[in-house]
Formats: sequence, structure tokens, C-alpha cells
Amino acid sequence: MIRVGVFGAAGRMGAMVCRAVLEDPELDLVAAVDPMHSGLDLRQLGVEASLQMARHASAFEDADVEVAVDFTVVDAARENITWCAEHGIHAVVGTTGFTPADLDDFRAQFEASSANAVIAPNFAIGAVLMLRFAELAAPWFETAEVIELHHDQKIDAPSGTALHTVERMAAASSNWAPDPTTTTVIDGARGGVAAGGIHVHSVRLRGLVAHEEVLLGTTGQSLSIRHDSYDRTSFMPGVMLAVKSVVDRPGLTVGLDPLLDL
Ligand code: NAP
Repeated sequence: MIRVGVFGAAGRMGAMVCRAVLEDPELDLVAAVDPMHSGLDLRQLGVEASLQMARHASAFEDADVEVAVDFTVVDAARENITWCAEHGIHAVVGTTGFTPADLDDFRAQFEASSANAVIAPNFAIGAVLMLRFAELAAPWFETAEVIELHHDQKIDAPSGTALHTVERMAAASSNWAPDPTTTTVIDGARGGVAAGGIHVHSVRLRGLVAHEEVLLGTTGQSLSIRHDSYDRTSFMPGVMLAVKSVVDRPGLTVGLDPLLDL
């Protein structure tokens, strides 16, 4: 049994992680931290564990946590990750918004630590595979466009996953045909232009969760690669895989690809 602690346990993702850990026979949920909700029993959040939310990460030391999972906010996550490295506790991090400089700092911290870390901006295994498939397909097509579709509360566009998809495709091929468009009647009709000149279109629609479609075209044929996340449970198999793998991955691992042998 791996002893797991959850930062941000009162949050949407954190509470979901607590549930997934409880349901996994190889994992033991032993501590939960969420400063603004300290003292709250996890049962009050609908999580079937009699565990009180702690204010500070020191609760993880007291509970002998081996792997800490962080789904919080970027400023808090920076502190939590550093704390884990300093205290020899493995970290699995889903919080988004880190800069390349942050990742360099974390890499140095975990190289100097007895603990390891896995940081992944997208824990949905299907989305990770979609990116890989798009990268593999890229050299065989001259035209491509990416459509990302999200719920109507998302305030940034395009999604980080869409941008990352395009960056991977652009790095895999430099053979993209130029955009033929000379006139647009409505501003933005052709979407935004990202790496390699590949166009990205962002749809915001009530009822959606997180979806992306990569369209590739060449002479006489097209290929569509689509991934749909219907709810937050879609991230849990990836998070659980990381929790079980982080012990065996020295230093910092960014992204799920290496865990899936991609
Ligand atoms: P959320 O519902 O706002 O949850 C964040 C929780 O963290 C809140 O309960 C917050 O408490 C708590 N928190 C703040 N500071 C903390 C600290 N120092 N220590 C411990 N807990 C702290 O947000 P969410 O929807 O769960 O998303 C969390 C993060 O995960 C975001 O960055 C999101 O982009 C990311 N995410 C990643 C993936 C992925 O696959 N990698 C998937 C989904 C979401 P308060 O409410 O009191 O501030």
C-alpha cells in the first residue's frame, strides 16, 4: 500500500483524487491538506473517509505520506512542491500554469532530493495519446487545423493542450502548406495561428467539458483525431498511474508520455 496525501483536497480535483485513492486497493489515503478548509471532515465533501483536513503540509510528515498529490493553484503548488522536495516526499502534480523557469527550479530541487516528482498538465490518458497520434501523423499531411471545445466557464483561449498539440505537430514536420485565405468577412473566422502556421479554433459551449479534434488533410483523404473528457473522472487513471510510478522515476518527470512508454 502506498501512503497518499492530497493537497487541495477540498477542491474539485482534490476531492476526486481522494475518492479515486480510496477506491484503489494499492493506495491508502492517510492525509489531506487544504488551509481554508482545515478541520473539515472529508465526509462533509461526500468523500467516504473519516479524515480531517489539515492546515499545513506538516500533516503529511505526521502521517508518513509517501506520495503527495497536488491540484491547487499555481502559487500554492510552487510552495507545496518545494516542501515535498525538501521533506523527501514524492510529488504528483496536476496544477497548471508553471513557467519553464518553474520547471527548471523543480528539476534542480528533485535532483537534490531523495524524492521524485511527476508534473503533468493533462492527466487524461486519451488526451496524451491524441497528442502523440497527431505528432506521428503530422509528417504525412500538409494541412492541419485544431479545434478545441470547452465549457462556457473557461476564461482563457486557446487551451494549453491545444497549443501543446500544435507545438508537437509543428516540431514533427516543417512541410505545412500556406493558408490560402485572402479575404475574411468576419474577424477571426480562420481562428488563431499557432506554431507552424497551424490554425487553432476555440469553441465555448454550455454543457461541454473538455474536447479536442485534430484535423489533418492531404490529397484525397483526411484524418480526424478526437478526444473527449466527459467529466473529471477522466483524469483519475492517469493520476493513479503517476502515484504508483513516481517512486521509480528519479528526479522530475514532465508529462505522462514516459509513463505510457510513448
Ligand atoms: P479548485 O476546485 O479551485 O481547487 C483548488 C483547491 O486548492 C481549493 O480547495 C483551494 O482552496 C486549495 N488550495 C489553495 N491553496 C492551497 C494550499 N496552499 N494548500 C492546499 N490547498 C490549497 O480547482 P480545480 O478545478 O480542482 O483545479 C485545480 C488545478 O488543477 C488547476 O490548476 C487546474 O487547472 C488543474 N487541473 C489539471 C488537470 C490535469 O489533468 N493536469 C485537470 C484538471 C484541472 P480555496 O478554495 O480555499 O482557495
